[in-house]
Amino acid sequence: MTPQRFPHLLAPLDLGFTTLRNRVLMGSMHTGLEDRRQDYPKLATYFAARARGGVGLIVTGGVAPNIAGWTKPRAGTLSGRRHLARHRLITEAVHAAGGHVCLQILHTGRYGYHPFAVAPSRLKSPISPFAPRALSGRGVERQIGAFVRCAELAREAGYDGVEIMGSEGYFINEFLAERTNRRDDAWGGSWTQRMRLPVEIVARTRRALGSDFVLIYRLSMLDLVEGGNSHAEVVELAQAVEQAGATLLNTGIGWHEARIPTIATVVPRAAFTWVTRRLRGVVRIPLITSNRINDPAVAEAVLARGDADVVSLARPLLADPEFVNKAAAGRADEINTCIACNQACLDHVFERRTVSCLVNPRAGRETEIVLPPAATLRRIAVIGAGPAGLACATSAAARGHRVTLFEAAAEIGGQFLMARRIPGKEEYAETLRYYRRQVELSGIELRLGRRATPADFAGSAFDEIVLATGVTPRRAPLEGATHPMVLSYADVLLHGRPVGRRVAIIGAGGIGFDVAEFLSHDPDRPLASQNIAAFTREWGIDMTLASRGGLVAAPDLALETPREIWLLQRKPTPPGQELGKTTGWIRRLTLKRRGVRMLAGVDYERIDDAGLHLRVGGEPRLLAVDNVVVCAGQEPERELAAALAAAGRHTHRIGGCRLAAGLDAKRAIEEGVRLAASL
Ligand code: NAP
Ligand code: SF4
Repeated sequence: MTPQRFPHLLAPLDLGFTTLRNRVLMGSMHTGLEDRRQDYPKLATYFAARARGGVGLIVTGGVAPNIAGWTKPRAGTLSGRRHLARHRLITEAVHAAGGHVCLQILHTGRYGYHPFAVAPSRLKSPISPFAPRALSGRGVERQIGAFVRCAELAREAGYDGVEIMGSEGYFINEFLAERTNRRDDAWGGSWTQRMRLPVEIVARTRRALGSDFVLIYRLSMLDLVEGGNSHAEVVELAQAVEQAGATLLNTGIGWHEARIPTIATVVPRAAFTWVTRRLRGVVRIPLITSNRINDPAVAEAVLARGDADVVSLARPLLADPEFVNKAAAGRADEINTCIACNQACLDHVFERRTVSCLVNPRAGRETEIVLPPAATLRRIAVIGAGPAGLACATSAAARGHRVTLFEAAAEIGGQFLMARRIPGKEEYAETLRYYRRQVELSGIELRLGRRATPADFAGSAFDEIVLATGVTPRRAPLEGATHPMVLSYADVLLHGRPVGRRVAIIGAGGIGFDVAEFLSHDPDRPLASQNIAAFTREWGIDMTLASRGGLVAAPDLALETPREIWLLQRKPTPPGQELGKTTGWIRRLTLKRRGVRMLAGVDYERIDDAGLHLRVGGEPRLLAVDNVVVCAGQEPERELAAALAAAGRHTHRIGGCRLAAGLDAKRAIEEGVRLAASL
């Protein structure tokens, strides 16, 4: 029977020689577990969980076909029969769980972070310190041979197919674009010669593998860099790749060096499926679309309006391996939604750490953090329903414990109640929706709107007490800190206190940036994160696809703002350096475009009716502002902890109440889940 709720999403896809059970592809995402043989059992468990969760087709993280294609030294490679055993762990685990799996063959070209990188021309990329070696004609042939050999080995290891990574500015993409291909031999020069490489790779792979092997080609449909391909070239390449034997065409959006956000939380949901749609009718093979599709209703709408045949979800399946099963069972409101923060996934990739997920710390650690039914059922009190407390309470309840969750505020959420109000962070509300539903389903007793006191824990009502009482905003330790013009970030973000036209923000950490974003946004403009047309206009993306790379020529990038804002810090380093690698640049750039003035190396002196007095480089300065908003970090909230300690009660502490310094939601949620796993 056709499922009722998401009929397009859950419809099988017949590829002729095999049938995918639905239209959800788990897009390739590097996890960091591909690189060492001993991590493959973890990787197999990770993929098997997604296959059990109902995904139609999984594509692994990128695996290099040879040393030259490595992402970094000793990166995952499939180039010899000695590598087969580890890959069989993956294919067997996925097949046993009823899924299909393809290996992504990733050759990084000039993006390779190692000295053996090769490319069409000797042009260093802005994101790797290593200049690549320009390949000879014979060298190009050797790379093609490596792709084909890798695909043959993939088949031997049991994969159902391969994805040839032709986008994001990697090796194949570098051949396609004039900006990176300066060759004058048969692999460069005219467009026909520049596109020869992917067509040869696909054709020779198809010839070697026969017709019953899935061959996905990931095509850069919108380069978002100057000198990128034109839409006419994209069309011609799509047709040539189809002709050469591709089974499916996947969408690639933006080179890694592009200065336009493509997957961060400021990007609206399904912001780029219109690009895939432009290939409708141009090729006959099924099209896969991607980027910021994190919700089954959004995915269904994308497919129903015919933008593509299949949706690719990568991060949303880190956040919830059961995404497809929940959608199919009419339990979409139970999905733990990816909020596109990048904090535990892509930021980890760039920090060379194993990937996980902020909202699901078990992702990639399925064998390490386990939540089995508890052997001894306990009565557990969790105090504080912010991210740490919610994660602990719901995970403990999932194990069968009887949990009571205390929260002083009238609703759950803690710091997330503020985060969700920041333009571009609306997705954070989804995490609260998820936890609200989990609390309902798991039978947790929720006591809202009353501050817990030691009397609540007298006697033996609870076997375990978990303190997740969070943090309180730090006051600015300077003269005039109690002046009426001074506000805390909670006053602004939570309590809606009015803020004047000229504002100084003390502290340029994550929250200082959030407050600057909030105050610099013109409430009369549509939220770019909620509106695809506004987003493409703000970032200079040419939706007509008339220009090369999809970039508007000379876009006006200045953004209107209702306020004059100064964002201040004492450190002499550029503000915002500690923000995440993959999103910090977006946040710095956005504020700059709104005219926010960032001052580093300041010494605060005092606040009075005239404004904020400070010194910059020793020079006195007055910022004549209407308000000063203090975002100077936090202190742990330990009043209850101290009282319980005095009463001799043993407690567990998690999140900001344990340690405020360096706290973020990633750490808070992980501490909550890990504690629940140990109780
Ligand atoms: P934070 O990142 O520690 O920043 C607080 C800032 O206040 C510091 O940069 C510090 O800079 C300044 N400061 C500290 N003590 C001060 C004092 N006594 N007087 C004046 N200035 C002082 O803390 P946060 O902004 O409150 O954020 C809390 C946590 O949430 C952080 O871990 C943050 O990463 C996370 N968060 C992340 C995001 C995100 O978008 N990724 C957003 C919000 C929050 P100087 O000492 O140099 O002035
Ligand atoms: Fe999504 Fe953030 Fe999890 Fe990455 S860390 S998968 S962006 S919620």
